[in-house]
Amino acid sequence: MAVYTAPLRDMKFVYRELFNGDDLQKLPGYGDFSPDVVDAVLEEAAKISQEVLFPINRSGDEEGCTFENGVVRTPKGFKDAYDQFTAGGWTGLGAHQEYGGQGAPKALNMLVEEMICSANMSFGMYPGLTHGAYNALKLYGTEDQKQLYLPKFADGSWSGTMCLTEPQCGTDLGLVRTKADPQADGSYNLTGTKIFISAGEHDLTQNIVHLVLARLPDAPPGIKGISLFICPKFLPKADGSVGPRNGASCGSIEHKMGIKASATCVINFDNAKGWLVGEKHKGMRAMFAMMNTARLGVGVQGLGLSEAAYQGGLLYARERLQGRALKGAKFPEKPADPLIVHPDVRKNLLTMKALTEGMRALVMWVSTSQDLAEKAATEEERTRHDDLIQFLTPVVKAFGTDIGFDNANIGVQIYGGHGYIREHGMEQYVRDARITQIYEGTNGIQALDLVGRKMTAHYGRYMRAFFHPVQAFIEENAADPKMEEIVLNLAKAFGRLQQAVGAVAQKGLSNPNEAGAASSDLLKLLSYVSVGYMWAKMAKLAFSKEGDDPTGFYKGKIKTARFYMTKLLPQTGALLSTILAGGETIMDLEDELFSAAVAA
Ligand SMILES: Cc1cc2nc3c(=O)[nH]c(=O)nc-3n(C[C@H](O)[C@H](O)[C@H](O)COP(=O)(O)OP(=O)(O)OC[C@H]3O[C@@H](n4cnc5c(N)ncnc54)[C@H](O)[C@@H]3O)c2cc1C
Repeated sequence: MAVYTAPLRDMKFVYRELFNGDDLQKLPGYGDFSPDVVDAVLEEAAKISQEVLFPINRSGDEEGCTFENGVVRTPKGFKDAYDQFTAGGWTGLGAHQEYGGQGAPKALNMLVEEMICSANMSFGMYPGLTHGAYNALKLYGTEDQKQLYLPKFADGSWSGTMCLTEPQCGTDLGLVRTKADPQADGSYNLTGTKIFISAGEHDLTQNIVHLVLARLPDAPPGIKGISLFICPKFLPKADGSVGPRNGASCGSIEHKMGIKASATCVINFDNAKGWLVGEKHKGMRAMFAMMNTARLGVGVQGLGLSEAAYQGGLLYARERLQGRALKGAKFPEKPADPLIVHPDVRKNLLTMKALTEGMRALVMWVSTSQDLAEKAATEEERTRHDDLIQFLTPVVKAFGTDIGFDNANIGVQIYGGHGYIREHGMEQYVRDARITQIYEGTNGIQALDLVGRKMTAHYGRYMRAFFHPVQAFIEENAADPKMEEIVLNLAKAFGRLQQAVGAVAQKGLSNPNEAGAASSDLLKLLSYVSVGYMWAKMAKLAFSKEGDDPTGFYKGKIKTARFYMTKLLPQTGALLSTILAGGETIMDLEDELFSAAVAA
């Protein structure tokens, strides 16, 4: 059975013990977030996730959204859950206090987002998209736009969307055709069709505010001619209340593989009134600033699903009786032993556990860095933290969602045929997880972002923000006998990463196809090392607390770290080999020969 209990012990561990989250309270604006308040937030978030969102996850998947006469209805229970969610102030947790939010640290907010995604990823899409729109307007909106929209986003009465994709363009947004015609009153009339718009239309909020990429009449072609507009479903009146209907409407909803309770809409803009956000033709800059945060959020969706799949798999592996332990019955009084005695099942469970907890730690590193990049005392510190975020964003997005999907798949495997049928809810995780590898920049595009931008930016400065702490950790702990096995494995993998980066940088300079061909493998290699660094840090901390470990939490960390180092991290060896083999065999086969096997 699908089950979900928020992993509060591990969340408090990564927040408090591993990354000194309680110190965030000393940063400007975070004074209210004392350890007690942080605990209370986590515990209340666990409650609403477990008791309100999780119970409508399966029914939401079965029922899906419906579309009739331009109206989209979310599944039974979603409106009620959303009302409880907003009443509890959850839409405003990360929003700034000046706009009516609670101004929580981003690191804390990430943990809450993880719980929401574990419990009900479809539900999480609605506040998630609003959060994205909030960030874009906060960064690039005029003061009037911020005053009008941000408090409504924070209290959840209005929701947001991101309208980028059109039928002819997804990855390549330079092909956007939606037009924006300037009007005498300073507004713009938007005309065009956007597809795949999450939360584009629904029945949860009083208004839906679209952030739309469109092209002005004098726009240069391609990506440099895209501007960003705000376009609400209902035009706001002067007092901020909801006014007449605007020309933005839902044409249909998609029937899709997963996240069925999240409405994915075609939105038609028919001379819809909109207003420019930021500068003309600089829409992509605004979009990218927002997208970086959104990409971390999507990585957390993967993490949330990974945790949920692990919990479901573990429960079943303990209950299901099949076969006997290889070294003799462990429970001779029972007709058979539980699945968890079998090495192959244990390997599956440990893979899920090691990747999930490792990714949670990595997300915490990046999100505490987000807080410090914004609020640390010195420019030097803020830049260093921002550099790290830039470098690790593709890792969190791509590896977070890859492990989300892979672990959901392992979850099904642990259930055997009972995982494949719908009853237990495990197959839903696979279907829900799949989209996370695609939207917000496919994982292939994340890999190109790594090799094309993040590795080379400022002569490798982003990369150094990651390499330096890993190198320092290895040097500091090499002589610690308890850490020997762990540091040795980490150092080996780190060496492979350095070698791979050098090879890709060198070959890519003369032939960009070499960089493109290596990109996904390099991102994966970096991901394994990043999570390996997290496990090494967790193990070190756990060794220091071995003497005070009544529940065995730290013992579990040390043993899982050893598993990660010896059974998962060595995959970096194979990845290095494929990277060093170069891209020649990838580019060599003539396009027409891809179909040679089907020719008569
Ligand atoms: C359920 C769902 C929700 C979505 N929500 C939103 C939303 O809220 N707002 C929104 O604007 N969009 C949304 N999208 C759209 C989503 O972001 C796009 O589908 C995604 O960006 C990929 O674009 P595409 O589908 O056009 O694929 P394409 O761009 O056609 O790409 C197809 C494949 O080719 C690869 N590829 C493309 N270009 C390159 C290249 N230059 N180099 C290497 N590989 C390349 C891609 O990695 C991909 O594997 C959503 C989509 C879905 C299915």
